[in-house]
Amino acid sequence: MGTLGRATGTARRILLTEDPHPGVIQALFVALYVLDLVLRAVGGGGAPFGPGPLVGLALVGIVGVVAAVAPWATLPRWAVVTVPLLDMAALGLSRMDAAGAGAGLLAVLPALWLGRKFGMRGVQVAVAGAAFLIVIPDLVHLGASGVNLSRSVLILCTVAWASLAISSALERSEANRETAERGRGELAAALAVIEEQRAFSEAILDTVDVGLVLLDPDGTYRSMNKRHEAFMRIGYPDGHNGRAGQVGQIYAADGVTPLGPHEMPTYRASQGEEFDDCRLWIGADPLTRRAISVSARSVRDQGDFAGAALAYKDVTEFMRALKVKDEFVASVSHELRTPLTSIVGYVDILQDRPDLPGDVLAQLDVVARNTDRLNRLVADLLHTAQADDGPMHVVRSETDLGVIVRDSVQAATPAAERAGVGIEVDAPLSLMVMADPQRMAQVVDNLVSNAIKYTAAGGRVRVRVAVDGAKVELSVADTGIGIGASDRDRLFTRFFRSRQAEERSIQGVGLGLSITKAIVESHGGRIEVESELGQGSEFRVRLPIGT
Ligand code: ADP
Repeated sequence: MGTLGRATGTARRILLTEDPHPGVIQALFVALYVLDLVLRAVGGGGAPFGPGPLVGLALVGIVGVVAAVAPWATLPRWAVVTVPLLDMAALGLSRMDAAGAGAGLLAVLPALWLGRKFGMRGVQVAVAGAAFLIVIPDLVHLGASGVNLSRSVLILCTVAWASLAISSALERSEANRETAERGRGELAAALAVIEEQRAFSEAILDTVDVGLVLLDPDGTYRSMNKRHEAFMRIGYPDGHNGRAGQVGQIYAADGVTPLGPHEMPTYRASQGEEFDDCRLWIGADPLTRRAISVSARSVRDQGDFAGAALAYKDVTEFMRALKVKDEFVASVSHELRTPLTSIVGYVDILQDRPDLPGDVLAQLDVVARNTDRLNRLVADLLHTAQADDGPMHVVRSETDLGVIVRDSVQAATPAAERAGVGIEVDAPLSLMVMADPQRMAQVVDNLVSNAIKYTAAGGRVRVRVAVDGAKVELSVADTGIGIGASDRDRLFTRFFRSRQAEERSIQGVGLGLSITKAIVESHGGRIEVESELGQGSEFRVRLPIGT
């Protein structure tokens, strides 16, 4: 089987698939030609050879030598056609003997060669060659007897069929090869485009001033840009193992508490958490450490968690500026306290004097009220400037919220009238709660003055107080400029001002709501806002009545 297989393989290579040297094919043909003659001679029983087969033998021998030595590489491609045609002529000669008709079978060999080498042209040459060099001479020489006629026709058919079969098989394989080649070309072009895009993306990622990290679903670092490599060198001077959650010189927003493995943004992101503006400090050296704001988003592949992308923004300058601002606010408020205390003291003394006329006493009342207010503002400024915003100090007592709300609306009415804003109140005459009266007044004042401030002329403000079970709900609604969805989350952070407020140059510092929230929460309550841009806003405060 092995020998047979090898022989078949060799024959296949020589005859079909490769372009062998004409000398090799000719040698094979000569061998088969000789075999035919030998078998005819050894088999006996027939007439002795006439001159035909022997002349044919001489012819194939000479062609064999010429085919072996001819400089085929320098000859035109079609020159090789002479070899199979001469072989056919030799076969025609061999069949001159009536006993040599079997040699006609060998015509398949030159036919295959021609079909293989020259395609359809080769088929035509093979058929014509077989007709004019084998079939017609032999029919003329031996006569068109039934046997001879049938053999001749069959030779012609076999030659045509063999050459046609191989030429179309080669045509098909050529077409396949071309398709494959085209496919390879397209693939190479696509790969080149991908490579170009990769290089572009890499260049862009390395240009942006934000550290970028891509995590695999198991938390392994997949890639990072150059900016992030620089952050990693600060946070992990001893190197990083390439997995999410490794602790290093990474600290919480206070700059001193080291982050544990499960607090690391990379670990949280690898667990599928998404977040924004997670502040932390990287590096222990005060001179080189950086403050970073991290955002994370999950990457999903058909709904499944496929990794996470993290962006690290350097906010060091911003954090330092914030600190400077806090320090500035703290020191200014501190400085204001001393003269204010003195004013309060002297106003007190003046109010106690019995000899003052009534109108002066009334004016002193106004001074005292406003000094009180100023005092509170300064205290609030001090409170907000403290970095570690502790809970606000409140002194609770029986407080009539109904009265506070009415007073506040009454005090705000002149401002509302000046602004052309209608204001209405819907509150019980008396509603007792346990709360800090001054702080509660501050809450209502803030919300009402904001509602008027952020509502254009012709708008309305509605203040409503209602009891809801063990809670009391205060609502301040307006038909003003409203607050964009993206601003709503940050509304209660100090110094925050919405884009709309800034654009309209409405005065304010962005402290009122953060203080309001601190007061409400220190009473065990909650504040929330509902708003639509251009339609208006409603702030709702819910407080426990009895605590
Ligand atoms: P300020 O009014 O001094 O700027 P606040 O802390 O009271 O500070 O308010 C913070 C921001 O919230 C304001 O700058 C404004 O953009 C927005 N805001 C507050 N109340 C309203 C309101 N009723 N309508 C629209 N925007 C408001």
